[in-house]
Amino acid sequence: MTASVNTFYDYIIVGGGVSGQCLAYFLAKELPTASLLLIDRDPDPDYNISFWADSEIPFQAFLSKQWTKIAVRYGADRRVCPLNNYRLQAFWRADFDTYLHKELTSLPNISFQEANVKALDEHGDTVDVQTSSGTYHGSWVFDSRLNIAALRQNDSNLMLMQGLAWEIQTNTPIFEPDTATLFDFLVETPEFDFVYVLPYSETYALVNCAFVTPYETNIDKATCEAVLRDYIADRLGIQHYTVEKACYGRIPLTSRPFPRHSTSRIMPIGVRGGMVKASTSYAFTRILNDSQSIARSLAATGSPYYRDQRAWYYRWSDKYTAKVFSRLPKLAQKLMFSMFHPETGDLSLRFLDERNSLRENQSLFQHIPRPVLTEFLLHLIFPSLP
Ligand SMILES: Cc1cc2nc3c(=O)[nH]c(=O)nc-3n(C[C@H](O)[C@H](O)[C@H](O)COP(=O)(O)OP(=O)(O)OC[C@H]3O[C@@H](n4cnc5c(N)ncnc54)[C@H](O)[C@@H]3O)c2cc1C
Repeated sequence: MTASVNTFYDYIIVGGGVSGQCLAYFLAKELPTASLLLIDRDPDPDYNISFWADSEIPFQAFLSKQWTKIAVRYGADRRVCPLNNYRLQAFWRADFDTYLHKELTSLPNISFQEANVKALDEHGDTVDVQTSSGTYHGSWVFDSRLNIAALRQNDSNLMLMQGLAWEIQTNTPIFEPDTATLFDFLVETPEFDFVYVLPYSETYALVNCAFVTPYETNIDKATCEAVLRDYIADRLGIQHYTVEKACYGRIPLTSRPFPRHSTSRIMPIGVRGGMVKASTSYAFTRILNDSQSIARSLAATGSPYYRDQRAWYYRWSDKYTAKVFSRLPKLAQKLMFSMFHPETGDLSLRFLDERNSLRENQSLFQHIPRPVLTEFLLHLIFPSLP
């Protein structure tokens, strides 16, 4: 990072992770004459991020692979769903950082500062950003520092997605390179847990186990390693392989609303701004859309607060769906599995993206067995049901 010289900026972004860099990119595009400071304290660990999209995302060069079919599995039952417009895609954080850093450093209006941000102090039309290398002043500040203590205080039912990813190399062809396993639900455990498999070639794949648990439940790395070892041997039938890359991670999941308007000139972004969808734990495309919307709103109105375009039933249902998922994880697995059929690949992903109309959802829900849907809806509508 290059040191900044000024202390006053139009926009200051705290945290140069995924949301900080995405927002810097879109602000620079929409407001090319505005001055912008990106402050980050240290490099982040590398990890794999996957997402689905039915159109090209604005920057592409760091993506490592796309899949045209997704598979889901529940016990012995496996379904393969070809995708028409959607693609499942993935990348590594380190590739994303390298690409975005190169793009952003080529822009004249962005400065970078390596520093620990200690406090934000808003007064009048200015926010003072106190850091380990001095104080900077911004008209608007976007904050992506994760604050677990605040999340836990705000949500007594805070959940956690935790898990381990291995990239493995086999010596014989075993994977179908065009088919990614999105969910292979582990049905014999008490949690909402699953494995996903992203094959890069016939002999190379990312295998990731994921557990959704109450925040206090710790599924440590050794437990995850044992789950992956068993899965690779028993489910995939692979005896000889090498682990080329590994990453253990945790994402907090909350269904409580995020206080985005808590102050007038400091806006939380990224995970801190509520971009993790509580019922799926996916965040990347939400972060992209949010960054683009903030930049467009600032360019059009001078304010970053834009109108949430999601239909009311999505805004309402995600919050309560996550609660049902946390109380009845096994019902949640059945519900998720039964949404995916060979003819509903795109429709299911569009539903998870909260973009289907009510009519499209109606046709999707017809595929879910009545007892599963009824039990889920009863718990959704009457949260105090035992
Ligand atoms: C292991 C893992 C796997 C994930 N996989 C997926 C996935 O497959 N699909 C998906 O959609 N989402 C995924 N996510 C969720 C989400 O996409 C990522 O967490 C994403 O990085 C969130 O972006 P962010 O900007 O909110 O946080 P980060 O990218 O973590 O950025 C926050 C930044 O703030 C900086 N910072 C923190 N404190 C300070 C401070 N005091 N001063 C200065 N800087 C500070 C940090 O250094 C960091 O760079 C995953 C998350 C994890 C952890």
